[in-house]
Amino acid sequence: MSLPENTTAQPGLAAALSLTHHGCRDFVIVDAIAEGQNTSRAITIHSATVEALASIDAAEGLLSQAIKGEGIRITSRSSQIFEARFGPLKKYSAYPYVLLSPQNVTELVLGQKLQSLGVQVQRPHRVVGMKQNEEDRRVTDVSLEDGQVVRARYIIGADGAHSTIRTITGIGFSDPEGPDLGNHVLTQMVSADVTFEPEPVGPLTIEGHINITLSPDGFLMLTPFGNRFNSELTRDGNPVTKSIFRIISAVPVKNRDPPHAPPKEYIQNLIDMYGPACITSDSSLNPTSVKVDQLVWSTRFRTHSAIADRTFTRLGAAIFLVGDAAHIHSPAGGQGMNLAIRDAIFFTEAITKHIQAFAGDSDVDDTILQECAQVRHERALEISRLHQEAFEPRKPYT
Ligand SMILES: Cc1cc2nc3c(=O)[nH]c(=O)nc-3n(C[C@H](O)[C@H](O)[C@H](O)COP(=O)(O)OP(=O)(O)OC[C@H]3O[C@@H](n4cnc5c(N)ncnc54)[C@H](O)[C@@H]3O)c2cc1C
Repeated sequence: MSLPENTTAQPGLAAALSLTHHGCRDFVIVDAIAEGQNTSRAITIHSATVEALASIDAAEGLLSQAIKGEGIRITSRSSQIFEARFGPLKKYSAYPYVLLSPQNVTELVLGQKLQSLGVQVQRPHRVVGMKQNEEDRRVTDVSLEDGQVVRARYIIGADGAHSTIRTITGIGFSDPEGPDLGNHVLTQMVSADVTFEPEPVGPLTIEGHINITLSPDGFLMLTPFGNRFNSELTRDGNPVTKSIFRIISAVPVKNRDPPHAPPKEYIQNLIDMYGPACITSDSSLNPTSVKVDQLVWSTRFRTHSAIADRTFTRLGAAIFLVGDAAHIHSPAGGQGMNLAIRDAIFFTEAITKHIQAFAGDSDVDDTILQECAQVRHERALEISRLHQEAFEPRKPYT
């Protein structure tokens, strides 16, 4: 399946869906690149994010297309240690599971929903400048690379970690815990979508669970996708017919940096060192000796955090930062995309309330917007602290 033109990154799509849901049609959504990034990356969509999407009538596509992850298993290389099932969360959420969907599929589904509502992402249009309008002090003139100027009263900067909007507004962006990346088991990681030969068997290979295998210096996560996303994950015309598995593995800092797009042999080696028995080629652990067959996609990343000093400011228009423009977190926690989507939905709710409260009013009060920004900033800090506490090496008892 080829991607329609209507995809962009998820927070931009969520913002556009939310504005449309709240009856606001006077907006434009632009993306600098000609086509969506179309890579697998984020796979987990948490209950709170599904609730937020449902609140704007935009959850049904993901609910029908994603895998419902019903639990997490923690294993050693040869046996199960612990299993947590999400079912008991039904007391707290109508969606007591984690949805599993590659990020390009999530963006495809949200983009299709937006298209069905008659909204088109305008691309390629890169924002290159912003300045306060000289006649209307509540308006900002946003310059695009091709010379066009968009006059805006509200601007949502969902333009990623190197955000132009954040840079122009002069908002700082740094790790609240300092620049040191640390040295813990999850400092550097590799992520890949692969198939195996022969197809592995056993409970860890059935879709609907996330499996984490722990060993003395290893952490390897195995998430079976079955055949659910084969056509969307197909690259370069190489059809994928077997079941696809997402592998996320720590790479000990004492080893060299992983290569930029780790090849099949590199992934095989990580699996043989840290993976569960059912997917290794090591015949002493697995008599069937399973090998990586097709490398569908791979990447490497280093875990670090950064938070924008503020997520709301004014330069004439009210300006918000959402997603990676506002905060980046370790992908290991599976939170970046989730926070991004919720940022977009909650900010747009606040914007529509603000429009209703102050349409045509010269005495604009930004309390609604500031309160929302404060909450989103706090959420980002909480996630950052959570990662810090989880990954910080234990201090010796004194
Ligand atoms: C390997 C990996 C695994 C991950 N796993 C998870 C996970 O399981 N769960 C999770 O929640 N998160 C996860 N994340 C994080 C998640 O992918 C990001 O947090 C999320 O994609 C951020 O989206 P964004 O739109 O803010 O930024 P981006 O994805 O960087 O998108 C920015 C968009 O803005 C556009 N743009 C940039 N500059 C301009 C400009 N000047 N003018 C116009 N447009 C512009 C770009 O073209 C792009 O479309 C993972 C990340 C990685 C790398």
